[in-house]
Amino acid sequence: MTEDGKARILVVDDELSNIELLAEVFDEEYEVLVATDGARALELAASQQPDLILLDVVMPRLDGFEVCQRLKADRATADIPVIFITGMGDNQAEVRGLQMGAADYVTKPINPLVVQVRARNQLELKRARDTLTRLAVTDGLTGLANRRHFDEVLQREYQRVQRSGGQLSLLLIDVDYFKAYNDNYGHIQGDDCLRELAKQMGRIFSRAVDLPARYGGEEFVCVLPDTDLDGAITMAERLQQAIAELQLPHAHSPVASRVTVSIGIACGPSGQKASPLSLVAQADEQLYRAKLNGRNRYCWEGKS
Ligand code: GH3
Ligand code: MG
Ligand code: MG
Repeated sequence: MTEDGKARILVVDDELSNIELLAEVFDEEYEVLVATDGARALELAASQQPDLILLDVVMPRLDGFEVCQRLKADRATADIPVIFITGMGDNQAEVRGLQMGAADYVTKPINPLVVQVRARNQLELKRARDTLTRLAVTDGLTGLANRRHFDEVLQREYQRVQRSGGQLSLLLIDVDYFKAYNDNYGHIQGDDCLRELAKQMGRIFSRAVDLPARYGGEEFVCVLPDTDLDGAITMAERLQQAIAELQLPHAHSPVASRVTVSIGIACGPSGQKASPLSLVAQADEQLYRAKLNGRNRYCWEGKS
């Protein structure tokens, strides 16, 4: 999808006349990218993430089948729908293409109306799928990643740093005396408060690899890949500073007149039995200590 919301279509054909025809069909409504060979098609598919690929079967060197197979084998391009362009009456090519995971096919000579309708159908299906995928990983209240997405990303990033020998940090963040906040201001304002806090997290944890998420209730968590303890402490400080600057009133909090959070920090992998779960448990332990030591602070193992 382009920035102004236009769908992006990649047309792959070694015959210029076909490319010209298809570009003319789609130019007005969509952004059209073109490739005249398979290798270029694979490159563009990965770098430009088109919403749909129209793929000629017969091409020199990499043919359409080979291109489709490679697209489907790569996680980055596997979900892009492919419509094959086959020769008239070539049933074998159609069957083979569909078996390979192609979404549909059109036959040559290309009929502009047919190709337009088939493309539109696939784009609509893709849009619906993308929406579902997004909803499945998003927390409804705050728009941050949800718990399920956090679990997945933590698992993946943990394995990655284990392989690379790097470090990963976790911040577990809990709003102080939030029950009292709800009791005093009402649940709706409580929800607004969680949204405001989430917005700050999105702002502070802004590297593409950082993942702030809603852990549940008034608890948040952030995965910081390739971040050591010092880096995590800096981020915890920054977050508390940003929340302080919000100056959200919390008249019934015993620790401050505004909304504050406590943060538990954990960094890993460390130790033989280290796992994503043990890292979360470690962050939880430190969060508990932060609560015990007076709230509105962050703790890590080793900090007195
Ligand atoms: P502590 O400082 O020890 O963390 O105290 P607390 O009151 O924040 O902790 P507790 O776990 O006792 O209460 C959490 C409260 O968070 C209870 C619940 O009313 C509120 N809460 C959890 N989820 C939501 C939500 O989605 N919206 C709102 N408005 N409140 C929520
Ligand atoms: Mg809590
Ligand atoms: Mg709390």
